[in-house]
Amino acid sequence: MTKRKHSGEMPVFPPAVTRQIVDGMFTDREVMLVELEGLGYDREDVLQHAFNLGLSVQFIELCRLTGDTPKLRQCLSCEREFVSLGPQNRMCRRCRRD
Ligand SMILES: [Zn+2]
Repeated sequence: MTKRKHSGEMPVFPPAVTRQIVDGMFTDREVMLVELEGLGYDREDVLQHAFNLGLSVQFIELCRLTGDTPKLRQCLSCEREFVSLGPQNRMCRRCRRD
């Protein structure tokens, strides 16, 4: 496999990989990144995808403090997946801001 140049274009992350990223961000981020690199994903893309899902450093810290486990939900507005802290949280960060 040739190493893809980082073009700024995001690859498609299947749901199973997205779940692995979410789990990895809350457990062992480095192990997750190495595993996905083994599958051919660029770690920059993986981290960008995690950020797009709402997995910011602050969000992860907040979950650690409160002991909450975020769930992946589909945004009611744009239908993109994002991490949600509960049933009251049905729209992604981007849509809530608009
Ligand atoms: Zn949205």
